[in-house]
Amino acid sequence: MSIAIIYPHRNVSDWIQALHTHGPDLKIEVWPDISAPEEVELALCWNHPDGSLQQFPNLKCISSLGAGINQLLDDDSRPTEIPLVRLVDDNLKQSMAEYVMAGVLEQFRRFKDYRQQQSEKRWAELEIPHISELCVGIMGCGEIGRFVGNKLADFGFTVRGWSRTQQDCGQFHIYAGDDELESFLSHANILVCLLPLTPKTENILNLQVFNQLPKNAFLINAARGSHLVEADLLSALESGQLSGALLDVCRQEPLSEQHPFWTHSKISITPHIASPTNPESAAEQIVDNYHRVLSGESLLNLVDIECGY
Ligand code: NDP
Repeated sequence: MSIAIIYPHRNVSDWIQALHTHGPDLKIEVWPDISAPEEVELALCWNHPDGSLQQFPNLKCISSLGAGINQLLDDDSRPTEIPLVRLVDDNLKQSMAEYVMAGVLEQFRRFKDYRQQQSEKRWAELEIPHISELCVGIMGCGEIGRFVGNKLADFGFTVRGWSRTQQDCGQFHIYAGDDELESFLSHANILVCLLPLTPKTENILNLQVFNQLPKNAFLINAARGSHLVEADLLSALESGQLSGALLDVCRQEPLSEQHPFWTHSKISITPHIASPTNPESAAEQIVDNYHRVLSGESLLNLVDIECGY
């Protein structure tokens, strides 16, 4: 019996090494060179080509190699009776917190404005609010959003969260569902999107939402590119409703050379690096899930296919 890794255009030797640390006897094959497809019981996927999962007649579990699973759900040929799991990992949470904190602090302490002043050789102090006066709104308070929100609150920012259902997020208040979206948005000076991509959250970062934020709000999207209506972002920046945006994700990745985001003075782009999966820390739960598959125990981090996350 074996595990197949389907991660096109990526040297996966670090994944194999990490998985062998926790299961030295595991048989691991790398797509597309699968010698015995009938032996594959667990498929580990990132950017898998549609249709590639169909070749395994005895598959028992599909695991995303990241926190998101939207690409797997989008594959119409995925065997839908096979359970789908994803990664929940302390390293993912920590590196996302670093990314968001960097973006929030850069905006709060006006580093971009100071860079502009430097280019004009201008020595002048700019006003900033007290840290507690700046409200960061976290859209999506799941494993990652909760962690990020609590780190920001620890640091002194006022934090508010928004999720589908009501929950206890520790140091910050949660607004739940469509009914409370407007109240949530009305306070958020910096809006951080950490939602999963589902039919309900696609295009959620749109002009209507931007217009409900305080004037001059700043957007950080570190979730998925399809959350954002790109033309609406450009309009909101043009009108001054938004003061800027930090985008780690784009509808089409890599961003095409002609895309207006590259050269927009109010947009900062990073190439989907907010929180890459670390094989060393993620391998243990994958091997644990593999043993659960074999013994019939309940799986860790099972995706609710109905909800889409
Ligand atoms: P979780 O599944 O743990 O959390 C999802 C959160 O979103 C939950 O709070 C959920 O609400 C909320 N949510 C889902 N649908 C809705 C909706 N329709 N309305 C309001 N709230 C909703 O996900 P993670 O925290 O693990 O990951 C979040 C996302 O972060 C991933 O899906 C991925 O897209 C992105 N990501 C990006 C990375 C990068 O490098 N850029 C790296 C890692 C992740 P409730 O709690 O009520 O169910």
